[in-house]
Amino acid sequence: MRAGTRPAVEGVGGSRRPGVMSALVRSLVDDGIRTHEVEMAVPKRRHSKTRKRKRRTHHKAPAIALQACARCGDPKRPHHVCPTCGYYAGRQRVTVAEDV
Ligand SMILES: [Zn+2]
Repeated sequence: MRAGTRPAVEGVGGSRRPGVMSALVRSLVDDGIRTHEVEMAVPKRRHSKTRKRKRRTHHKAPAIALQACARCGDPKRPHHVCPTCGYYAGRQRVTVAEDV
């Protein structure tokens, strides 16, 4: 199906008024088919590129958390070994290469 088109089934979904069923839906209910299997929400119009992009302006990666290392004070990520001194939880965990 092309984007932005609606199903061409006549009568399914029925009236827009709540509690009022179309004749087709009523006949399906009489046959033991539950209405939520028949009436499915379908967008009436496609959203424009602008509208989609405006919505997605709030989608972004979270900022990387940084905190001061308890030993050397340089910024490090929480629950990670300090990249400057190689310490984590008060012990030397990795050997940090000297600057060349
Ligand atoms: Zn450190």
